[in-house]
Amino acid sequence: MTTSPPRAWAEIDLSALQHNLRTIQRVSQKEVMAIVKAGAYGHGLIKIARELDKFSLPFLGVANAGEARLLHEAGIQTRPYILGATLPQEREEIAARDWTPCLCSLEELKHFDALGQDSPIQAHLALDTGMGRGGFLPHQFYDILGVLKNSKGIQLTGIGSHLPVADEDQSFTRAQFEIFDSLIESLPTQRADFHVHLSNSAGLLGYRSRTTNLVRPGLSLYGISPLSEEQHLFRPVMSLKTRVSLIHHLPQGHGVSYGRTILQRDTRAAILAIGYGDGYPRSLSDRSTEVIIRDIRCPLLGRITMDQIIVDVTDLPECREDDVATLFGPELSVTELSQKAGTIPWEILTQITPRVDRLYF
Ligand SMILES: *Cc1c(COP(=O)(O)O)cnc(C)c1O
Repeated sequence: MTTSPPRAWAEIDLSALQHNLRTIQRVSQKEVMAIVKAGAYGHGLIKIARELDKFSLPFLGVANAGEARLLHEAGIQTRPYILGATLPQEREEIAARDWTPCLCSLEELKHFDALGQDSPIQAHLALDTGMGRGGFLPHQFYDILGVLKNSKGIQLTGIGSHLPVADEDQSFTRAQFEIFDSLIESLPTQRADFHVHLSNSAGLLGYRSRTTNLVRPGLSLYGISPLSEEQHLFRPVMSLKTRVSLIHHLPQGHGVSYGRTILQRDTRAAILAIGYGDGYPRSLSDRSTEVIIRDIRCPLLGRITMDQIIVDVTDLPECREDDVATLFGPELSVTELSQKAGTIPWEILTQITPRVDRLYF
């Protein structure tokens, strides 16, 4: 890359994406449904999908028909899988385009069955083993399999469930794996291309299933581990950067930014061309947040504004206007920022706004 944009940009390292995918394949020993919902977690849906399209994955996981349509229109070959309950208005297109829904209710099942009378729709069954966000409860499992057996419009090609606390509660998650595995083991042996799946990133890193043959990583694919012990396995894909637009000196006692944070010493302050209008969370204000300039961590001063932030570079005399500053990346993790902001890395990544140019290399 020769030129970077003048203001705020996100560098997207596609070799890191590839590294993370290979790592997930090695660690899990399973097929991978790469999750690309929400603009590939803010990394850019089509660019990321195009890269992942090279790996002959069985599915790309999207949130809805709109995201699946974007993949289709971009000529992406990998089959979209719709991760949640579909809306009635979405189903005709899903059926017509041969995307894979997961059946979350009897109503949805019956609608897809009707739509698939001429050519059956390949669908997965969603089991609710604890997430409470749609799907059939374990005690409904055999009844619903009975309904599916008599359904001419649906070809069942997989069964999945989801983990609400894989990064928080081991005993609940272990119990979920056991319930899920036992249900699957009670079925007659399935064809090899029948997909059984349960794990998100935390699930595939922390647990083993006896029955699944597919994992559904999102966050870890983008290089952030939900379990800090495993972060060393991954390489962050996105680095958020900006530039110093101005450097000036302010005396002790002067205020900075909205609310007037009072300076405790004579200060050399750098203005950076990024703010919460770019998705750099305002809640990082007054949290000992730092940015990296010339490999040195420099603290934020005062509140984050919409388009600009102020950084203390008194202890970095080499700092110059036009210097590049890194807000997060391999050396300053989005996990650290999310803890300071009182949120989660998923939210920080998906909130980076369109004003931030994405640069791919
Ligand atoms: C978003 C999502 C995932 C990916 O979760 P990560 O924690 O980001 O790996 C997996 N499965 C389902 C059903 C999801 O909605």
